[in-house]
Amino acid sequence: MFENLSGRLNEVFQNLRRRGKLTEADVDAALREVRMALLEADVNYGVVKDFIARVRERAVGAEVSRALNPAQQVIKIVHEELLNTLGPADRLNLSGPRPRVMMMVGLQGSGKTTAAAKIARLLRSQGERVLLVAADPYRPAAIKQLQTLGERVGVPVFTEDGKLPPEVVQHAFTQAEKGGVTVMIVDTAGRSQLDQQLMDELRAIARKVTIAETLLVVDSMIGQEAVHIATGFRDSVSLSGLVLTKMDGDARGGASISIRSVTGVPIKFLGTGEGIEALEAYDPARLAGRILGMGDVLGLIEKAEAMDQKSAQEQAERMMSGHFTLEDFANQLRQLRKMGPLHQILEMLPGNMGQMARQVDPRDAERQLKVTEAILSSMTQQERNNPDVLNASRRRRIARGSGTDVQDVNRLLKQFREMQRVFKTLQKTGGRGMSRLFG
Ligand code: GDP
Repeated sequence: MFENLSGRLNEVFQNLRRRGKLTEADVDAALREVRMALLEADVNYGVVKDFIARVRERAVGAEVSRALNPAQQVIKIVHEELLNTLGPADRLNLSGPRPRVMMMVGLQGSGKTTAAAKIARLLRSQGERVLLVAADPYRPAAIKQLQTLGERVGVPVFTEDGKLPPEVVQHAFTQAEKGGVTVMIVDTAGRSQLDQQLMDELRAIARKVTIAETLLVVDSMIGQEAVHIATGFRDSVSLSGLVLTKMDGDARGGASISIRSVTGVPIKFLGTGEGIEALEAYDPARLAGRILGMGDVLGLIEKAEAMDQKSAQEQAERMMSGHFTLEDFANQLRQLRKMGPLHQILEMLPGNMGQMARQVDPRDAERQLKVTEAILSSMTQQERNNPDVLNASRRRRIARGSGTDVQDVNRLLKQFREMQRVFKTLQKTGGRGMSRLFG
C-alpha cells in the first residue's frame, strides 16, 4: 500500500546516499521532499509539521556516529521519529474477569465484521473459548455474514431476533458466562456516517456489560477521512484500540501514520486482505520498514553500528594511507561475517546496489567467500602482511593447505593488487572518491 510513499522516500534517500557529507542545506532539501511525500500520502498536516521539525532538530548538528555516513544518519533519525509517531505496539487486554467483552465499532463497510471474525480466529488459536455476537438487528444480511464467517473460523455466533442491541448483548453475556466462554466479541451495527443514534446505542451496550476493549475498525484506504472518523468516535465512546483495515490496498496510506498521534488511541491490528487469516498484530517497526520501503537498509545500519567501530575506523585509515595488506583484508572479511549470513547482507542492500546484488547468486558469492577465507587462513601472518614474499612454492603450499588450486590463489592475489591500486588512487585524490565507493 505504501508504494507511492516509499517510492518517493526512497528517491530522497537515494539522493542523500550519494553525498559523503551533508550540509544543513542538504538536510533541508531532503526534508522538503520527505514533507511533500508525506503530504501526498495524505498524512495529517500537523503531524507532518511536527515530524519534520523533530527530524530536522536532530539531523542538523547530529551526534556524529563513526559507523554511519551522514546520509545513513538522516535515514536513521527519520526511521526513529517515524516509530515515535506510529506509537508503541499495544496488545489486547485479556486479563481480568471472564468473559472478556470486546466491542467492535465502526462505520459500514469499514471491515468491522471481517475484523471481528479474524480476531475471533486468532484468539481461538491462542486457546480462548470465543463467542461472536451479532448485535446488528437492523441488517439481516450482516447477521448472515457473521454466521458464515463464524462457521469458517469455527467460532459459535449468538443471534437473537426482534431485540435491541443492548439486550442482545446482555443475553449473550449470560449465556457466555454459563458456557465457560472466555472472550465474547460483539459486532455492533455500522452506519454510513457518524451519528448520534449510533453513539447512544454503543453507550447503552456499555451500560449493560463491562467492556474490556472497544476496538474501532477504520478503513485505511480513505486517508485523512479515517482520522476524522476516529476522532468522532473517540469523542463519543471510550476507545481502547484501533484496527486499520485494507492495508493491502494501494491507497496513499497516510492514515496509518497520523491516526495514532491525532487520536491518541493505539493501533492494535492491521487488516491486510479479504482472507480470514489476513490480520497482523500491529508492529510499528515492521510498519515503519514498509513505509520507508528501504529493503532492510535500517537493519544494515543497526548492524554497521553494532560492528566494532574503532577497528573499522582504523582500517579505513590504513586503507587510505596505502598500507592495506592481506591481513587487513582478512580482518574485513571477519567483520563482514559478523554482520550475518552473506545472502542476508546482499538482500539488505538498498536501491541499485541491492538490485545488482540480487542478480548475484548468493550461493556463488558464499562459495567464493569461503575459498577466499580458506586461502587467507592458509597463509602465515608474515605472508599476509607482506604478500611480496609469495613465490611459486609458497603459493603451491597455500593452495594445498586450503584445498584450492594455484590459479585460485593467483586470482585472489590479483584482486588484492587491484584493490591496493584503487586505494592508492583514492589516497592521491584526497579521499574524495571514498563516498562514491561506499556511500
Ligand atoms: P463492515 O460493513 O464494516 O462489517 O465490513 P465488512 O467486514 O463486511 O467488509 C467490507 C468489505 O471489505 C468486504 O468486502 C470485505 O471482504 C472487505 N475487507 C475487510 N477487511 C479487508 C482488508 O483488510 N483488506 C481487503 N482488501 N478487504 C477487506
